[in-house]
Amino acid sequence: MTQSFNSMAPCEQMEVFISGYIDGELTQQESQQMAVHIRRCESCEKLYKELVELKGMTKEAHHITVDERDLPRILENKTNRWLMTLAWALVIIGGLVVGGFMAWDLAYALWTDTSQPWWLRFALGAFYLGFVGLFLVVLRQRLIARKTDKYRKVKL
Ligand SMILES: [Zn+2]
Repeated sequence: MTQSFNSMAPCEQMEVFISGYIDGELTQQESQQMAVHIRRCESCEKLYKELVELKGMTKEAHHITVDERDLPRILENKTNRWLMTLAWALVIIGGLVVGGFMAWDLAYALWTDTSQPWWLRFALGAFYLGFVGLFLVVLRQRLIARKTDKYRKVKL
């Protein structure tokens, strides 16, 4: 049996046995013979090491896929982005309601006060127009930033 194994398994045919040897599918006797051969034969030892490496990589690839590895990061990013959007919305809405109400109160008083000079009322109108314009620009910038973020993610 030992002799037939050795004579029937030249190095070219060892690959099948080496694969089984790594997977632990050989009998104890076959495993011992394989161990002895690998220790003696340089090319089979090289093949053995290559297969171990290959199998290790395949195993790792099965256990930890890129998606699974990236999942916590992606989820965290999504949560962060969501919280960021919520925070921004709260700041903008709160600021607009409170600031707008107070400013509008003042502006209304100034605007309806005919004793104020025309240029002050004009400046007031310009200020509000500018404020709305700035708000729209910031909003547009944020929207563009979100869009480019998305595109960058898709490319990667
Ligand atoms: Zn060999």
